[in-house]
Amino acid sequence: GNASRVQAISQIVNRKPLPPKTAASLEEIWAENVFNLPKMKATLPKAIFKSIKKTIVTGEKLDPSIADAVANAMRDWAISKGALYYAHVFYPMTNLTAEKHDGFISLQSDGTVISEFSGKLLVQGEPDGSSFPNGGIRGTFEARGYTAWDVTSPAYIMDTDNGATLCIPTVFVSWTGEALDKKVPLLRSIAAMDKSANKVLSLLGNTEIAHVNSSCGAEQEYFLVDANFASQRPDLLLAGRTLFGKPPAKGQEFDDHYFGAIPERVQVFMQDVEETLYKLGIPAKTRHNEVAPGQFEIAPYFEAANVASDHQQMIMTVLRHTAKKHGFVCLLHEKPFAGINGSGKHVNWSVSNSTQGNLLDPGDSPHENAQFLVFCGAVIRGVHKYGPLMRAAIATASNDHRLGANEAPPAIMSVYLGTQLEEVFNQIKTGSISESKKKGVMDLGVDVLPYLTKDAGDRNRTSPFAFTGNRFEFRAVGSSQSVSGPLIVLNTMLADSLDWIGNRLETELSGDTELNTAILTVLKEVMEQHGDVVFGGNGYSEEWHKIAVEERGLANLPTTADALPVLQEEYIGDLFQKTGVLTPVELESRFEVYAEQYILSIEVESKLVMDMAKTQIYPAAVGYLSKLSSTISSLESLGVSLEKGSAQKVADLTNSMVGAVTKLGDALGKHDFGSTGEHMTYCASALRPLMDEVREYADVLEGEIADEFWPLPTYQEMLFIK
Ligand code: ADP
Ligand code: MG
Repeated sequence: GNASRVQAISQIVNRKPLPPKTAASLEEIWAENVFNLPKMKATLPKAIFKSIKKTIVTGEKLDPSIADAVANAMRDWAISKGALYYAHVFYPMTNLTAEKHDGFISLQSDGTVISEFSGKLLVQGEPDGSSFPNGGIRGTFEARGYTAWDVTSPAYIMDTDNGATLCIPTVFVSWTGEALDKKVPLLRSIAAMDKSANKVLSLLGNTEIAHVNSSCGAEQEYFLVDANFASQRPDLLLAGRTLFGKPPAKGQEFDDHYFGAIPERVQVFMQDVEETLYKLGIPAKTRHNEVAPGQFEIAPYFEAANVASDHQQMIMTVLRHTAKKHGFVCLLHEKPFAGINGSGKHVNWSVSNSTQGNLLDPGDSPHENAQFLVFCGAVIRGVHKYGPLMRAAIATASNDHRLGANEAPPAIMSVYLGTQLEEVFNQIKTGSISESKKKGVMDLGVDVLPYLTKDAGDRNRTSPFAFTGNRFEFRAVGSSQSVSGPLIVLNTMLADSLDWIGNRLETELSGDTELNTAILTVLKEVMEQHGDVVFGGNGYSEEWHKIAVEERGLANLPTTADALPVLQEEYIGDLFQKTGVLTPVELESRFEVYAEQYILSIEVESKLVMDMAKTQIYPAAVGYLSKLSSTISSLESLGVSLEKGSAQKVADLTNSMVGAVTKLGDALGKHDFGSTGEHMTYCASALRPLMDEVREYADVLEGEIADEFWPLPTYQEMLFIK
């Protein structure tokens, strides 16, 4: 019954928020828990500091001869901050962060102990990697993988209830050198992109060209639910989303949550999160409420992709952990509540260096404009050629609930450029640039090249991938995902496109063609072959789905089962191999791991649906019926009759639900699949619809049964009581 729900509500209503912290000054706490360059400078001998600084800037390997000195300084600093342990932090192929903890303690032969942390322990660790999915790269019987410090990402102290730990961001590789994680390919994709970008920049006449890096600013959406409610929802605890639940009478129709007042408890929580992140050197800003009730957002200022990705993982960890402290559960799932807006993670992405600046910024001079158009053209080509790969990079069981659900971008990848830029590219395609001068759209700074004015106000929220003035925003990424996968794909496809453009430019320029003419010729070709991916209209519309697929030949891959097999296609294998980002074995292992996760999460959810239907919802229905029937017969003995339709309806729904549960159980029993792909398709086309069927009956039941019998906290309670 609902006794425990009632108790939960009274506990929440009477709960005192944790007292707000006395606001520390930002300058005082900023990066205080990070062993960054200023701290190294203060603690290391000059020569050693110079060497490590060079390593950090260039991403080269750490000079082993300085590792001990760095490790000592790092340990002393960590111990002074109260750390007893250190951990190699790594990012396995799941979307989680993994850690191997070790004590600084070292037992001496005389029985005393000292704190020890050598260069060797800093540079290399050996986690029990066998428990992480590796997609068949190594059997558990083989040698373990090892972790190695990624010097470009600083060490930091994570303060939790279990004490402070020195955390060292690492790569995770097998002894045979294969990447077992999400960091190694990200670093490789940046290197590949840097190489191609360098070539193009030099063809464009630049003489001094610094290392080109990709940048990322990720906006994270999430829900907060009181822990008293969440603890009574096995689905929230185990699957991160509700598998049952009738939409509340009051949903988000009124949009009064958006920009609305944030409850005090949430505000104190956000402040706590911010302070923790500032101490970790993460430039985050929490936001107003999101569209859905109970939904919020946090977005850090953009950083180099590699660091941004590590920081994004830390943000997710800090959100979950801080929520617990404040009596909330933080839901990072893409679709925790059916019928309520889901959560995404907009990945803002650009590429830049210290000599040419942001290469996706139109800039102020005709030269910068030309450069911008070349890089932008490379992105257009990339999305057209590798759109299915972008879809695969965001394919998870949870994100499938969100994509194409009329609140989030469709599963069809296209590019939104904004009206002006789209027109410029169309003119390049048709060769009608001089025409446009009359329309006053552009000023031809140089003979033939258009001059662009910045136009950041132009937004299209229905596009999965939109240009927003000086960067692209990949809006289809899921809220629970690591941003590494999407960044790897964006960098890699850009590397490939820049390489192609570089080669074409070289060919054009080998004659006596002028640079600007060569650029226009190549971009015209790009638009002729790939312009179909540019779309400025409503991405949610049915019309677009039809046009995209039938007229433009774009792929519509609605489920993960449709999208992941893209990783097995030859042209994708070629892309990763020629850019050096993933070997065929590494790519295959990723397909296996992601497919397995998809299958597993749907099977786990199916079992949960059955469990909850049988052990919570069925008993509630029967309990209510029993009460109803005894009331009906007692009344009859008094000669009063009660309408029986309601009892009949509850009985019918209950029987239908039980029937659907039986079908789901039978379907779960099937185990003979010809391939992983077949198994995924079965999950998408057989299991999911049956889960939905059980839910449909259960949700109607929720509206028929007396509230006092209903065992699960309702949507209304979870979304509105804080
Ligand atoms: P909106 O909600 O309008 O999409 P936000 O201001 O919430 O925008 O988020 C924009 C994100 O884009 C921030 O993280 C910001 O730092 C990031 N960003 C800005 N410029 C760049 C860039 N050149 N490269 C990558 N990210 C960027
Ligand atoms: Mg955004």
